[in-house]
Amino acid sequence: MTAIPVTLTIAGSDPSGGAGIQADLKTFSALGAYGCAVLTALTAQSTQGVTGVHPVPPEFVREQLETLVDDVSLDAVKIGMLSSAATVRTVTDFLARWPGHAVVLDPVMVSTAGSRLLDDDAVGAVRDLLPHVSVVTPNVPEAAVLLDGEEAHDVDGMRAQARALQRLGAARVLLKGGHLRGDEAADVWVDEAGEEVLVRSRVETPNTHGTGCSLSSAIAALRPRRTSWRDAAADAKSWLTGALRAGAGLEIGRGPGPVHH
Ligand code: PLP
Repeated sequence: MTAIPVTLTIAGSDPSGGAGIQADLKTFSALGAYGCAVLTALTAQSTQGVTGVHPVPPEFVREQLETLVDDVSLDAVKIGMLSSAATVRTVTDFLARWPGHAVVLDPVMVSTAGSRLLDDDAVGAVRDLLPHVSVVTPNVPEAAVLLDGEEAHDVDGMRAQARALQRLGAARVLLKGGHLRGDEAADVWVDEAGEEVLVRSRVETPNTHGTGCSLSSAIAALRPRRTSWRDAAADAKSWLTGALRAGAGLEIGRGPGPVHH
């Protein structure tokens, strides 16, 4: 019998090790989960930004998934960078054929430095993916794109948008308020039971690369050992706050460094 949860990340590679698959696998390890990884894209990237994206052909993403699940049983799945509409549809089709997975979707669209990690024409396909996931974890700009609306400016606006994302079919939403100013990092959690604002103190650090990747992976890694998604999300946020604090002194590259190692 497996002693530790088996988690899969479906995401892109970040050679600088701060975000993407590399961040996901480190997060799984840090939280005591075994990590599998299906690659959707290679990026050429440093801490200073992305210079290129080389997508994996969607049919090969499908082959990686089918080969893996034929052999390995998964306790939770995290989805990150999907790059193209065709890859989003491939992953949607995979989830439809293997229902019942615990799935966290980080709807990655643009890197912090401004590079596109999802094609413009793929946003509709991401909306169609929402009903197939257990939790979606957009930041404020990503929520606005998914809802085809304005960015929320405060927690009340975030609440309304989290509800609207639930109406699009996402069972649960963690809308991340890190982009809003303030001494505290407030995220809005919405699930079948209601809504809650999760507040942690804001960590001052230059090392923020891969924050979203790490949080969504932490939720997936923790879910098999928690009794609810809400508890997995709240504990993942606490873990991330500690990781940001612990990683504040890391000196990797000349840009925003990785959240943790
Ligand atoms: N590169 C890859 C492969 C990613 O998956 C992501 C985020 O999800 C990023 C880069 C962007 O990370 P950040 O916004 O922290 O720069």
